[in-house]
Amino acid sequence: MRDILLQGTDVFIKWGSDNDRVKKLLHEASLYANELVELQGTVVPRLVGTFTDRKVNPKFVCLVLEHLSGIMPDDVFEANRQMMVLIGKLHNAGVRHKQMLPLDEYEHFIPSEKGMRIVDFTLAEKHECRGCPPLMPNDPLKFAIGYDCCYELYTLETELARLDLSQPPELTPS
Ligand SMILES: [Zn+2]
Repeated sequence: MRDILLQGTDVFIKWGSDNDRVKKLLHEASLYANELVELQGTVVPRLVGTFTDRKVNPKFVCLVLEHLSGIMPDDVFEANRQMMVLIGKLHNAGVRHKQMLPLDEYEHFIPSEKGMRIVDFTLAEKHECRGCPPLMPNDPLKFAIGYDCCYELYTLETELARLDLSQPPELTPS
């Protein structure tokens, strides 16, 4: 049993009993147990355990996760920086989230006393990341449709940096 339970830490429970929900939760549990295992407790919450009861018709699945509690950094730029670091680590581990955009309320980034975490991998996919160079304001790369970089990293960075895509870049001859 993990120390998270021995310490009496609160937990967060996700469960489902219909076929689609069960399939998604088992997929999420598999990611936590494999691609995300090294990121538990730093980038994603710790998975305490996965419980299934196949006697229930059709079946029942329950994920018990570390409960996260905290507040977002007051500085929006610092919050955005932390999110970008986290998503970079997620992609480096071979996973793309697929539910981060539109980034209306940062609902998949949860603050905690030990640092921000990314949550909800029900639709996430294994991913061979091509990476994405840091985007700067007026960076011509951001307009290069088909530029060979990771789409999720690219779009998130663009969104988080609040780059103004409505204006063409100021290109300077090199
Ligand atoms: Zn990627």
